This record gives sequence, structure tokens and C-alpha cells, in this order.
Amino acid sequence: LDFSREPGVCQDGKAAQIASSRLSVPLMLLCTRRSRLKKIGQRVMVGDRVEVEEPDWDGGRGAIAHVLPRRSELDRPPVANADQLLLVFAMVEPTLDPHQLSHFLIKAETTQLQVCLCLNKSDLATADEREHWQNRLQHWGYRPILISVHQAIGLAALAAQLTDRVTIVSGPSGVGKSSLINQFVPNSDLRVATVSGKLGRGRHTTRHVELFELPTGGLLADTPGFNQPDLDCAPEDLANYFPEARKRLAEANCQFSDCLHRDEPNCVVRGDWERYEHYLHFLEAAIARQEALNKLG
Ligand code: GDP
Ligand code: ZN
Repeated sequence: LDFSREPGVCQDGKAAQIASSRLSVPLMLLCTRRSRLKKIGQRVMVGDRVEVEEPDWDGGRGAIAHVLPRRSELDRPPVANADQLLLVFAMVEPTLDPHQLSHFLIKAETTQLQVCLCLNKSDLATADEREHWQNRLQHWGYRPILISVHQAIGLAALAAQLTDRVTIVSGPSGVGKSSLINQFVPNSDLRVATVSGKLGRGRHTTRHVELFELPTGGLLADTPGFNQPDLDCAPEDLANYFPEARKRLAEANCQFSDCLHRDEPNCVVRGDWERYEHYLHFLEAAIARQEALNKLG
């Protein structure tokens, strides 16, 4: 195997999985980090593509010599090379709360990953409710995929969105995330990694990241740590996390370059779009947070 041309995907801090197209079974190597990497403070994250030196196939061991450039890097959960964030909400049970959905959407947008929205339990919703949310969310700038894991509705469309990509699944509890992952990764043997450890940089928090390999290609990462997202964005960045505001700002400029889109004259963002109210709410929270941080010095 030529590792420089066919790097392995790192599944946790130690183990690198070498999924070779020439072998029918994925191989797992338990790897250490070369001391050179430690010296330069190069950490190895879940999802990293790595080059392994001197693999010992019989012993199942190797050493990571290089970490390839990342195309994305998430801190919470710590995952490298993710392509998209799949936000799962339920249409009913629990009732879809637009404010909570906004909260998760903003958090998702802050990752800079592509955001894909999926509404589960469509089997419990009426035709009117389905149409309502489809239209409403389109005005928010999203095209939700309506699914029912139980009734196998919309799963082909979702599968197409997941194939060959590294996807981070997020959403509140009870919406069907586990059911969805089990549906796409039916054989629990395909559960490729479990990582837990102190990744909280000195804080003694335990973070847990799991990557699941899709039979059709691609990886799913579950993110239990994402359940109550705290928004730590700067007030001046907030508008960028609303597609509706982004669109307006792409077409025209506010009079003031540091406009917070509240009551400034000649603001292009302020207006009669549904979530403008949400924007103001989260803006207040972001300003309060910034003021608290400033007080702390
Ligand atoms: P999680 O907390 O997001 O992982 O949600 P779970 O996968 O544990 O599901 C929560 C509950 O919703 C369980 O009782 C599931 O059986 C149920 N559920 C999941 N998907 C569907 C669905 O498509 N339709 C209906 N009616 N119930 C579902
Ligand atoms: Zn403005």
C-alpha cells in the first residue's frame, strides 16, 4: 500500500483505519504519534487523514508520521474533515419549536459547514403541517428533507445527501437521531470507533465522538455534546448566520459597515422577514455575552 497516495482515516487519537480499495475488509491499525508531531504540537483528530509509517500488519500497529491538510476542523465535537452538518428535528413529538430550531440552525451555521436540515416523524404530521413547514423553512433559506424513519419515507433522498460525505448529526434529543443512525448503519459491527477522553483542554470534561461508516460510502458522526448549543458568536457576525440576512447583505450594503441591523438608518437587513424577531433576540444575547466578557477583561 502506498500511504502517501492512500492515506488512512483516523478514527481516534491512536488508531488509524486504512480503508484500502484493494482489500475487501477495512483494516484497523493502532497507531502512535511520531515524536516530531508531538514536538510541533500537531494533534490528531477524529476524521483526520494520516500517513502511517512502518505498518506492522500482523501486530496491527503503526506510527502516524503526517497529518494531511484538513478541509474543515470542528472544535466541539473535535472532528476533522467534516463536510456537512445534518440537523435533525421532529415535526411532532416533540412539537417543532421555531425558536429552538433557529437556535440550532444558527449554531450549525457557525461551523461554516454546509447545513442540511431534516424533519423526522413526518408520519405523525398532517399533510397541511408538512406543507406548512416545507414552505416556511424555504422562506428561512432552507430546503428541509421530510422523513419518517419508522415509515421509511424520504430516506432515499437523505441517503443521497449522505453518500460519500462526512456528516455530523445534531439535534435535540427525542427527535429520532439514534433511530436514523441505526437505519443507515444497521449492523452495529459497522460502528467504527468510539472515543472518549479528556479533550476539554485542561478541563476535566469528557467528550465523546463516534464515527459510523455508511455502507454506501461516507461517515456519520454522532454528537451527543451538541444538544444544548451555546451560541458564542460576536454580535457583528450574527446576521451572517441567517440565510435571509445573508441574501440581503449580498445584494446591498447597510449605510454603516458596523451596522447591527437594529435601528440604524438605511439598514438593508431590518425588515419584514419572519425570523428578524429571532435575530433581535439572539443579538441581545450576543451583546450581553460580549459585555460580560469585557467586564471580565
Ligand atoms: P434521539 O434522542 O434523537 O436519538 O431519538 P430516538 O432515536 O431515541 O427516538 C426517540 C423516539 O422517537 C423513539 O421512541 C422512536 O421510536 C421515535 N421515532 C423515531 N423516528 C420516528 C419516526 O419516524 N416516526 C415516529 N412516529 N416515531 C419515531
Ligand atoms: Zn443593517
